[in-house]
Amino acid sequence: MPSKVEVAKEKSNYLYGTLAQELDKTTSHFEEDNRQVLKFHGIYQQDDREQRRERKAAGEEPAYQFMVRSKLPGGALTAEQYLVHDDLADRYANGTLRITTRQGFQFHGVLKGDLKATLRELNSALVSTLAACGDVERNVMCCPAPTGDPVRQQLQQLARAIAAHLEPRTRAYHKIWLNGEEVKFADDGRDEEPVYGKTYLPRKFKTAVAYPGDNCVDVLTNDLGLIAVLDQTGTRIKGYTLVVGGSMGTTHGKEETFPALARPIGFVRPEDAIKAAEAVVIVQRDYGDRNNRRHARLKYLIHDRGLAWFRERVEEVFGRPLEDPRPLPPFETHDHLGWGESADGTLWLGLPIENGRVADIGHRRLRTSLRRLVETYRPRIFLTPQHNILLVGLDPANRVAIEFELFQHGIATVNDISGVRRHEMACPALPTCGLAIAEAERVLPDVIDQLEWELEQLGLGDETISIRMTGCPNGCARPYVAELAFVGRSLNKYQILVGGDFNGMRLNVLYADLVHLEDLAATVRPLLALWRDWRRPGEGFGDFTARLGVDALRSYANEWKTAQASQAA
Ligand code: SF4
Repeated sequence: MPSKVEVAKEKSNYLYGTLAQELDKTTSHFEEDNRQVLKFHGIYQQDDREQRRERKAAGEEPAYQFMVRSKLPGGALTAEQYLVHDDLADRYANGTLRITTRQGFQFHGVLKGDLKATLRELNSALVSTLAACGDVERNVMCCPAPTGDPVRQQLQQLARAIAAHLEPRTRAYHKIWLNGEEVKFADDGRDEEPVYGKTYLPRKFKTAVAYPGDNCVDVLTNDLGLIAVLDQTGTRIKGYTLVVGGSMGTTHGKEETFPALARPIGFVRPEDAIKAAEAVVIVQRDYGDRNNRRHARLKYLIHDRGLAWFRERVEEVFGRPLEDPRPLPPFETHDHLGWGESADGTLWLGLPIENGRVADIGHRRLRTSLRRLVETYRPRIFLTPQHNILLVGLDPANRVAIEFELFQHGIATVNDISGVRRHEMACPALPTCGLAIAEAERVLPDVIDQLEWELEQLGLGDETISIRMTGCPNGCARPYVAELAFVGRSLNKYQILVGGDFNGMRLNVLYADLVHLEDLAATVRPLLALWRDWRRPGEGFGDFTARLGVDALRSYANEWKTAQASQAA
């Protein structure tokens, strides 16, 4: 039987639902079916979870508020678009901007009465929220490195083209939010969705475009990845290897759910890339599970039916056989932080944004400082897949002034932070995300403090480890490819996973379960000590822990703790 969300999608008549009618009411929130439809418009209905208990005891309704997400393919935006986001953060949201792990922006704390104005002002700056959430193609990721290299520019163009091709065609978004036209429902026969149909996809669908050799987008964690294959000179794109079936989300206690890495199914020429992407989407549309949302991502379809079966179905839609995939290139991951020079002689500056939160906190005036830089120097901007920001097209003559501006406002540059802080990621989790069962963004800085201390004590202060934390197993910060991950298990308790690959090419495995927040660093300490003593030359933490395996690690960690205790006695 189709899930309730499937029924809500069908009833919505191409994403109208009764959103317009509910917007006219003075209520603080939307009813359930509309709440589902709202996601396709880039809006999540949430409530401040810290007020829940108190308000319930007082007989009041939850403190409803909304998360609004911009869709920015490849993370690209202009200075003007940045400033509009910054304005709206104060006017309608909680005074902060959140860079997402898929190169978009999120506002938190928007009230129902301000939704229309927020969307209108974004759209007046040519920024849409349509399909930033929901069971559709989400924000298409792409390597943001602004080197000026024509190949990278073509990849950015491809990301935008895929996003445009797979954007919903319904006019509901414009009618409801933008021009106030009378809303007529789709049975007037004018709305249609040539790719998606009335019920869109069974589940969200994520796509990334990767530069060969730079896996900053974590391409294998996507439902669909397009990995560029270059000619021998490295200046021409011969085509793309398609990888399918990656996804991070899982559910605690449900063994039939699992994270997965995408696998290669074929190779297409540049002129066929969009058609091939559409074919993959259509096969998932037609065969994906619409009864059980926990089993609805593309990875489960491929797991159940097999990769060969899936490839055949894609070829049927594509209209001819796919060429065999090319071997995957050796990947490294670059975060593009620090100063870099583009081909035209301008500079870019990549700034680390802790947990992606652009905010003024205490003496660190990050939001103020970024606003001043954008107003003064009008850079182009890229949001990165590690929730950082790149300011692009800067005149080298302004470098010192920019550095002074950042210094004045207490903003850390990449040279000021450790290798573990540089490579941390967290999802928003509490208090806004309705699915969070533990903290992430608000506690990771303290956990990193503790890990930095442990590393210093062990003489490992200059080392780098990718560390990711999420408030639930849905995996929004892609924790299952990190070298070290903390995944929320229950309030203040986490799973610890180790053995992922720094370059995002291998899944990690469970090392310890139900570890209290306060014990995370102490639980990892023996592993760091073992890594220091037993690693091979140049061996990263993830590779080391994967080589030993969790059984051996647990056993050695116990021996290490016993030895430490006897030394102390
Ligand atoms: Fe929310 Fe879970 Fe995603 Fe974190 S990983 S933002 S807690 S759904």
